Amino acid sequence: MSTLTYLECPECGAHFEADKPQTFCPRCESPLLPRYDLDAASRALTPEAVASRPRGIWRWHEILPVRSAEHRITLGEGDTPLVEVPRLAREFGLEHVWVKDESQNPTATFKARGLVMAVSRALELGIREFVIPTAGNAGGALAAYAARAGVKAHVYMPADAPEVNKAEVAAAGADLVLVDGLISDAGKLAAEHARERGWWSVSTFKEPYRVEGKKTMGLEIAEAFGWHLPDVIIYPTGGGTGLVGMWKAFDELEALGWIGSERPRLVSVQSEGCAPIVRAFHEGAERARPWENAHTVAAGLRVPAAFADRLILRALRETNGTAIAVPDEEILAAQRLLAAEEGIFAAPEGAATVAALKKLVSSGWINAADTVVLFNTGSGLKYERL
Ligand SMILES: *Cc1c(COP(=O)(O)O)cnc(C)c1O
Ligand SMILES: [Zn+2]
Repeated sequence: MSTLTYLECPECGAHFEADKPQTFCPRCESPLLPRYDLDAASRALTPEAVASRPRGIWRWHEILPVRSAEHRITLGEGDTPLVEVPRLAREFGLEHVWVKDESQNPTATFKARGLVMAVSRALELGIREFVIPTAGNAGGALAAYAARAGVKAHVYMPADAPEVNKAEVAAAGADLVLVDGLISDAGKLAAEHARERGWWSVSTFKEPYRVEGKKTMGLEIAEAFGWHLPDVIIYPTGGGTGLVGMWKAFDELEALGWIGSERPRLVSVQSEGCAPIVRAFHEGAERARPWENAHTVAAGLRVPAAFADRLILRALRETNGTAIAVPDEEILAAQRLLAAEEGIFAAPEGAATVAALKKLVSSGWINAADTVVLFNTGSGLKYERL
């Protein structure tokens, strides 16, 4: 059983009722974070119990928001491999580097984790028609889960998004709207149509549950390392759902008493062509200004403004992490390197973590003894430009 109790605004602390559809805190324009009765959760959820349940994200159901088993839809998301990459590690003078390979999720990216959660919970609350603005992969994931649930999805995507994303959305029978512009332009149009037509928006952090699906990445990492955490996690950041989700997962595991107060240093990687979080981090700012003329081969990182900017920046600072931008040429070179050295054909977003690792080792920010996890967030097979 889920032990979800309420939703909380992390800025003003206001509580929102969890068992009706909620969006974000209107006062603070902030995402809402689901809170659980972790004492109650710890009675049913134990490390032994989670280890013995069938694979996938639902084995953490006590600390996920869906209350009834009948609403837990699945296509087999989560429990992706954590692959040690010794040849790549040696190349950079390191000893302990792993790739969390999210390309093995349904729809071939980690967007599946967030969207299966948002759709499942919305179905439980009676919602039947969805809309999403997307750089590409989130639209593919929504379309798949909406098809699985037998409900309608409307996907708003930049016209120059990868062709595979358009194909997967159309194949799943979703309504595909191509927009001239970026995800932010798609977002404006989607929000307008959602209001007029009564559709439920699952835009990044504008509803409270995608982050809960992505939280499971942090839970899986803690479990894989025997309830210890790696020293560094490098994460390609667009809207920041996975970064904020993992940060939240670690706090919940500490409250459950499964880990201590140590945290991995969280690192956000962005492309030099669109790096609003990196700029804000190094300016010492609490908020990120929108990036002008965003462009990058890493489509999932082409997010000029993140709604959860405050949370992302807090997660980086509170964990003594950092933020780093890498140029597209280095992303593409890193993509070839990871494929050639280790056989992992990463999405450009995932490859960006390898480019970042190289820079952080040269600058001395990461040293030989550090245990590092890189997130390959999607499959290289979904992208045509190489
Ligand atoms: C969406 C996306 C990202 C960025 O993820 P966020 O959690 O929104 O920061 C990274 N990589 C890929 C492949 C994506 O599709
Ligand atoms: Zn608030």
